Amino acid sequence: MATPFSEWGRRGSYILWDPTPGTWDRTLHPDEPARVSEVCILLLSGAWAMRDISDFPVEAFRDALRAWFRENARDLPWRRSRDPYRVWVSEVMLQQTRVETVRDYYERFLRRFPDVEALAAAELAEVLRYWQGLGYYRRAHHLHAAARRIVRDRGGRWPQTVQEWLALPGVGHYMARAVTSIAFRVPTGVVDGNVRRVLARLRGLPRPVVRDLQAWADVLVDPRDPGTFNQAMMELGATVCIPMRPRCGDCPVRAFCHGFSTGHPEQFPTPVRRTEPPEERWWVVLWSHRGRWLLGHKRDGLLRDMWLFPMWPDQTGDVETDVLNLWSSLDTQTVAAVLRPLATVVHEFTHRRWRLRPVWVPWPDGWDPPAVDGMMASTEMFQSWQWFPRAYLPRIPIPRAHRKVLAALARPALRPISE
Ligand code: SF4
Repeated sequence: MATPFSEWGRRGSYILWDPTPGTWDRTLHPDEPARVSEVCILLLSGAWAMRDISDFPVEAFRDALRAWFRENARDLPWRRSRDPYRVWVSEVMLQQTRVETVRDYYERFLRRFPDVEALAAAELAEVLRYWQGLGYYRRAHHLHAAARRIVRDRGGRWPQTVQEWLALPGVGHYMARAVTSIAFRVPTGVVDGNVRRVLARLRGLPRPVVRDLQAWADVLVDPRDPGTFNQAMMELGATVCIPMRPRCGDCPVRAFCHGFSTGHPEQFPTPVRRTEPPEERWWVVLWSHRGRWLLGHKRDGLLRDMWLFPMWPDQTGDVETDVLNLWSSLDTQTVAAVLRPLATVVHEFTHRRWRLRPVWVPWPDGWDPPAVDGMMASTEMFQSWQWFPRAYLPRIPIPRAHRKVLAALARPALRPISE
């Protein structure tokens, strides 16, 4: 049995010392053990946080925030339940993605995969298909792998502590804290991008350090209902304390805000100028033959396990040259006869931009099918190729960038490539 060592701030959780020689425990939840290194970090950052917050009216701040959230919380589908599966799915989807985008995906995903058992039993390809268009497909891989681990390794028993959640694929500190505070009332603060901005402004920090903010969030969080407190902080950052023009006149906590008192809250944290993502240029070949379309199964990296139309780097700006360079089994006359250039498609990821120059290749029915093996040898991007009937395409996971390319086919006039 552990012995209470020191009360941690005002949040009702404890740092514990276990009399077993050499063993320290920290608990944010009564059953949650921690490593020695974590205790040291907690002690150091906590000492800092307590010094910094010693004259901060924590209870008044919580009251103001709670009252505001009660009146102003948006009615979002994932807020209607504290079921860990629903909380978890919503938090995964909301990473790097706007609330309005997630809303439809969330409802559709839960209709098909209503619980962790259904998700674990599904094929990855189907999970990816329900994810397609949301982007960041690695999230879907991790969600699926973690569901299988919960069902197969834990017998369906939910992890209930931050440490247990951190052991699952794709779960980081934000996710573990968010899910456990909302679903299991673990008294831990969360610091996502919105909360980071709110905390930096409250304290007037131009260059906040995440670890320090986390320590402060842990002190501020309301131990009676940490999940609601954390959601209120995130809501404040998403709807009131917004990046460029914070709506301080509507803010329930402006009386506590150092940034507001300076008259220039938008300066905290120091705005970072967004740099243009690097651009990659690709040819995308929409190859059709007897009503079927050729797609490749992406081997790894970005869009792993999705199906894409064949694509090659646009190296010369001339599609015939690039295709001939890569697909040596074709001759110039054949290529010239079958290539139908379409309008360019631009697709932005977070860290890169794709400029896709699609080419339709309606392979004549009377000709032999194209030699896919030759194409396989020319690119390592795909692990296999398959011809799909057009009607089957909605049933396989194709990323949004390539669905845009497919949509270019539906345009009434095929326009030549021009930029
Ligand atoms: S007063 Fe303004 S800057 Fe301060 S937390 Fe509220 S919205 Fe943000």
